[in-house]
Amino acid sequence: MADYRKMWEDLGMDVENHDLLCSVLPGAIGDVFLSQENRPEAMDYFDMVLADVHGLRPAELVEFKKNGGKVFGTFCTYVPDEIIFAGNGIATGLCAGSQFWVPGGERYLPANTCPLIKAMLGARFDRTCPFYRLADIYIGENTCDGKKKAYEILGTDVQMHIMDLPQMKRPKDIEKWADECHDLLEMVEKETGNKITPEKLAENIKKINAKRAALKRLYDLRKNKNVPISGTDTLLISQIAYYDDPERFTTMVNKLCDELEKRVADGVSVFPAGTKRIMISGTPMAIPNWKMHNLIETSGAAVVCEETCTGTRYFENFVDESGENLDEMVSNIADRYMKINCACFTPNSGRFDDIIRLAKEYDVDAVIDVNLKFCQTYDIEGYLLEDKLKEAGIPVLGIETDYTDSDAQQLKTRIEAFIEVLG
Ligand code: SF4
Ligand code: SF4
Repeated sequence: MADYRKMWEDLGMDVENHDLLCSVLPGAIGDVFLSQENRPEAMDYFDMVLADVHGLRPAELVEFKKNGGKVFGTFCTYVPDEIIFAGNGIATGLCAGSQFWVPGGERYLPANTCPLIKAMLGARFDRTCPFYRLADIYIGENTCDGKKKAYEILGTDVQMHIMDLPQMKRPKDIEKWADECHDLLEMVEKETGNKITPEKLAENIKKINAKRAALKRLYDLRKNKNVPISGTDTLLISQIAYYDDPERFTTMVNKLCDELEKRVADGVSVFPAGTKRIMISGTPMAIPNWKMHNLIETSGAAVVCEETCTGTRYFENFVDESGENLDEMVSNIADRYMKINCACFTPNSGRFDDIIRLAKEYDVDAVIDVNLKFCQTYDIEGYLLEDKLKEAGIPVLGIETDYTDSDAQQLKTRIEAFIEVLG
């Protein structure tokens, strides 16, 4: 990792504590990623981004801010990046996937809060993440109870803008969401001092759609009998999607897809023939949470699809590009985002339909439904999901876990037994 100490100090980070976090990264990259066989060459770019995760992109954001740019931190797949980029702002994901930040969050939150939320607060208040230091404004959203109350605590230390996400999908809810998107647009204009014109918004709708198209292309390649890329590598790409420059990211994913298409044509697979194909469904896996993919793919199965916010929920459905004025464009944006099926909604039968459709498209042998500990919405939804999957004849294993390794051995035993039963 290059030396970014001066930048971190200037950002007001606790550099000594941050060194502890950095010191475990090379080992983790070696164990989880570099130990895999026959990786695509174009993963080099994503490996490099990961190795310098707290350096490369933050340094770009520092330069951007020196020229008066505003950075907006986001926590959820429902926040429309198009609007932020259309105001010449930069959106960056602030999801937190490391156990390192959890104890810091527990100083503010009950222990029985999901680790993602605890890590969010730990990363902010411990001052050990440059992205949390760089974002000028955090955009929260009313999704689960834990997040919305945690945003109030974050609001004591940083400017927050909260989007009121409806939790049903009736026409009046979609209209309400369009209103919220308008409010976001006005806030971005005010904070950046830039007018969002129809031309700018149209351009950025296309830009973010192109990113979705690249991810869709990558995922479609995993539908092949010969799987050209591991689930672990694909997860890393989905995680990087949240904070990399969108145009560069799209170019690099398309470059990777060119290589993967050749692999498919040449019959190259990263897994032996007959390896069981698994789809993961459930809660998001924010960087650097690679726990389940690593456990599954070192237990003799292949992860070929993720129905998560670090998976299909992030890129499925495009924004209609035919809007001719700001109102139409914002309405098209609202429509697209309201097609995401998060367990915060009721009813949420669209998610069951998605999972069963994806299971067929990716020809999976089973679904592993992975939920973060203390995530009530996904945990409760798991009951009906298991029923629906059983009805559809798709084997399912439900797992609840956190960011620690304390249950890793036990989970591995369960996963191996599950794969064995699949025959
Ligand atoms: S799981 Fe729901 S609340 Fe969490 S990031 Fe995804 S859409 Fe947002
Ligand atoms: S995983 Fe569940 S509890 Fe945690 S932030 Fe997402 S929806 Fe909320």
